[in-house]
Amino acid sequence: MSVCPVLATTAPTAVVEGAGVHLRRAFGFGRTEDFDPFLLFDDFRGDAPAAYSAGFPWHPHRGIETVTYVLAGTVEHGDSLGNRGAMGPGQVQWMTAGRGIVHQEMPKGDAQGRMHGFQLWVNLPASQKMTTPRYQHIHAEQVPQVVDDRGVSVRVICGQFGQVCGPVQGVAAVPHYYDVELPPGTTASLAVDPGHQSFAYVFAGRGTFGASSGAGPNAGPVGNRTLVRFGAGDGVVASSDEQGLRFLLAAGAPLREPVAWRGPIVMNTEEELRQAYAQLREGTFIQRD
Ligand code: FE
Repeated sequence: MSVCPVLATTAPTAVVEGAGVHLRRAFGFGRTEDFDPFLLFDDFRGDAPAAYSAGFPWHPHRGIETVTYVLAGTVEHGDSLGNRGAMGPGQVQWMTAGRGIVHQEMPKGDAQGRMHGFQLWVNLPASQKMTTPRYQHIHAEQVPQVVDDRGVSVRVICGQFGQVCGPVQGVAAVPHYYDVELPPGTTASLAVDPGHQSFAYVFAGRGTFGASSGAGPNAGPVGNRTLVRFGAGDGVVASSDEQGLRFLLAAGAPLREPVAWRGPIVMNTEEELRQAYAQLREGTFIQRD
């Protein structure tokens, strides 16, 4: 296996989004080629309702997919197509905005006031930016968990892991998205497609990434709230220290298309952006069949 080298480790940036939600952005609104096909990754974990309860009131999306993964608390969701629901712990909402939705996402803490979750934006290829909007709502028990004899656990949210297929289907960029947990003092090798770009986001414990033998660049030890960006290879290697290690691993095929991005709308050209914002002003953004 050729181990994916670590290109960079960075801490997320504190930002305020929506109506006043304090969150940490690992990447987004920057050099899109670094993470292509992924556009943005937000860590919206908070332990105090004042940090998140203002939520994300009505806003549009077009041209992307958003993936929300909740670990604690719930996110109430409603949209312009009449969909309503709530995402609870362990649940995933994979939303293909396609030609356009207008929605709101309102975090509600649990009994301890915790709201823990992550949102990943995946770009859509030009050929699918104006596709029909759709949702895949995945319950916790639908996410397969593969545990090996050392206790290394991989929850497969999307894509293939060995013989196991995640519940999210038909995603344009064919990404892999795993929630990986290593017990203390273990090393895991996770296969990735050599043509994919990949990153990890650590959210608990401590550990190192990359070739532990010293044969290549590695990173660590790193802990909670660290983004690790990998270079090309066919496997990601992670080792935990005595605290164990938990991280999200995402890998996807780069689209290599021009990106025109303003706020929650991501298209290929400035003209497409102008059209989208004109439609929002004129009330013709939502296009029904
Ligand atoms: Fe949104």
